[in-house]
Amino acid sequence: LFDSLTEQKPDQLLELIAKFAADPRSGKVDLGVGVYRDETGRTPVMKAVKAAEHYLWETQESKSYIGPEGDPAFLRMLALEVFGERHAGKPVAGIQTPGGTGALRLAAELLSLDKRRKIWIGTPTWVNHQAIFASVGLQIGTYRFFDIGTQTALVDEMLTTLRNAAPGDAVLLQASCHNPTGAGLSRQNWQDIAAIIADKGLLPLFDSAYQGLGHGLVEDAAGMMSVIEAVGEAMVAVSCSKSFSLYRERTGAAYLFGDLQASLNKGVGNLASHARTSYSMPPAHGAAIVAAILQDPSRRQTWVDELNEMRIRITDIRRAAAEAFGQFRPELAGIGSQEGMFSLLPISPENARRLRAEHGIYMPDSGRINVAGMRVEDVASVAERIGPYLA
Ligand code: PMP
Repeated sequence: LFDSLTEQKPDQLLELIAKFAADPRSGKVDLGVGVYRDETGRTPVMKAVKAAEHYLWETQESKSYIGPEGDPAFLRMLALEVFGERHAGKPVAGIQTPGGTGALRLAAELLSLDKRRKIWIGTPTWVNHQAIFASVGLQIGTYRFFDIGTQTALVDEMLTTLRNAAPGDAVLLQASCHNPTGAGLSRQNWQDIAAIIADKGLLPLFDSAYQGLGHGLVEDAAGMMSVIEAVGEAMVAVSCSKSFSLYRERTGAAYLFGDLQASLNKGVGNLASHARTSYSMPPAHGAAIVAAILQDPSRRQTWVDELNEMRIRITDIRRAAAEAFGQFRPELAGIGSQEGMFSLLPISPENARRLRAEHGIYMPDSGRINVAGMRVEDVASVAERIGPYLA
């Protein structure tokens, strides 16, 4: 059996991690891996998470099964945090999942029940998106979302695509801090998107993986909430990996919005049945941590403060990067107004490889950089080294 398999290409970002670790040069810089780094280059366990783990260690009395839908307290508290108390005035129901990826996969399973349905995805996007939807046999339609030369979102191309989509088609939208481009959408853009989605009878699927790392917790959800309010029906894949720094704990949730609670419960029941046949039930620890943080005002405040610190550090780096890279290409000053950890540099795969080999600066061949891979005071010198390699 195994002999006849086709060789799978390893994930380039995971390969980069290994190559970076093996690189003995002291001036090496890792702009590749998609995790937040602090000023010392580490991805620490948040203080709020440590406090919650301490609390769980003292109070948790059983590790017995919790069921495919996960922890109801986690789902309730996370929904309040992500969607706000009013949650667009719509009923919502959810299921805990292994990370945001697990939520996207369950959502994809549900969407794929109708084989005529397409899902529309703007490119470039997170490398795993197309693979997830393709793996359940969904038809995928793409449109250009970003122009790397001008560093701007191609909103008109997106709106035209949505206008031509068929009723019932799904639309994947990143709620904030777009991976890999950092391109944000204005309030007007979101309103235009909402109007077309509502008018055409499309189904939005939001990927919310970076809430709080762009402009703030409420601000980063505002566009998504305006669409949900206007459209009524929506799916949301939430990842707690970045905003709670819980990456390896695999913590996330899939939520459904609609007009009838009974239909939503049926939807979640279907998601749970897919969960049951693939991993049975989600890992509990990360979700227990998130619930323990959000249920306790003091732990929650510690978390909000830490998240704000991360966001401010990212904003500071972006400001410095806008100036430093802008000297090489005026458009790259746009890095300053982009949001979240990622920006996309105009660079050829060949030059991305040369930067790794000759300068120890690591980024994937796509040219995506994680700005949190730099210290503010190093931004200028990193930009000096990258500048001559830009396309
Ligand atoms: N969506 C986007 C846009 C992401 O960048 C990521 C993680 N890189 C995810 C979803 C999945 O995150 P998780 O680790 O929680 O599965």
